[in-house]
Amino acid sequence: MPQTNKPLFERIAIIGIGLIGSSLARAVRKNNLARHIAVATRSTETLAKARDLSLGDSYTTDAAEAVIDADLVVLCVPLGSMATLGKAIAGSLKQGAIVSDVGSSKVSIIRDLQGILPDGVHLVPAHPVAGTEFSGPEAGYASLFEGHWCVLTPDANTDKQAVAKVRSLWEACAMRVEEMDASHHDRVLAITSHLPQLIAYTIVGTATDMEDDSKREIMKYSAGGFRDFTRIAASDPVMWRDVCLNNKDAILDILGRFSEDLSALQRAIRRDEGDYLENLFSRTREIRRGIIEMGQDKPDIKPENEN
Ligand code: NAP
Repeated sequence: MPQTNKPLFERIAIIGIGLIGSSLARAVRKNNLARHIAVATRSTETLAKARDLSLGDSYTTDAAEAVIDADLVVLCVPLGSMATLGKAIAGSLKQGAIVSDVGSSKVSIIRDLQGILPDGVHLVPAHPVAGTEFSGPEAGYASLFEGHWCVLTPDANTDKQAVAKVRSLWEACAMRVEEMDASHHDRVLAITSHLPQLIAYTIVGTATDMEDDSKREIMKYSAGGFRDFTRIAASDPVMWRDVCLNNKDAILDILGRFSEDLSALQRAIRRDEGDYLENLFSRTREIRRGIIEMGQDKPDIKPENEN
């Protein structure tokens, strides 16, 4: 993104400065997207870390103070904290301010924030679909968002200019931006992100419940598959608790389908139905090919020097 002299925003307030908030702060700074970055977080410990890392221009534990005069406020806290935070900042927002977020579910954001914000303040929900299993301000980095999708879920009444500004923010962070209906977002993410996360928690949970000898063996021989699941299952428990509770309907729907499919697989194995298994595993291979063809992942290449 070419650097321009006039930043996109005069003042951005980033509320919550963990993995996503700190990555955004770094990307905003790197790309000269705001003249002033106001950082707010709940604890003095996290605030001190943000200050040590020079993530902003001003720092406070009072979110209402951070949003004064902000053109854009981005809420980067767990989903379960959005409503309380919205109430805390509502009275301090200036007319014409844009309030956005980075939450992993979107229907709940509209439910929690729309009625709270004053008239003349524009809510533009957003979800940068990029992350890692790490948390906190030290975990973030400016290039986290590059090449990934960011989904905006404004409704038909949302101010078009406000939507365009939020789009420009994420495009300047090198994201590909798409707009969709909030409930559609939640259904898509339930299968592409939330279900895999829950499968990882289940697999690693099953291993955790095994007797000590078996557990030691699992650690010792944990190659590819299981090891990858442990990485995913190491993600922040509060964030994922809140995703489950705030995207409940879509997640329960997809878990229901998944349980049925798993039972069918179980039955096929019990009945020695090799054709069923081979057919299923061939279809899933096609999905993998499709993802690579769409440029969503790199082909799996055999490491050099390995036969
Ligand atoms: P994180 O690294 O754990 O950081 C969370 C931040 O929120 C911290 O600054 C924390 O403050 C603050 N916070 C936590 N609980 C709070 C509360 N009750 N009230 C006020 N502030 C609170 O989390 P993250 O991974 O950046 O996730 C933030 C948001 O991004 C979530 O909504 C998540 O759904 C979304 N998201 C995450 C990912 C991912 O891969 N992690 C990807 C896309 C979107 P203190 O440290 O000061 O307590």
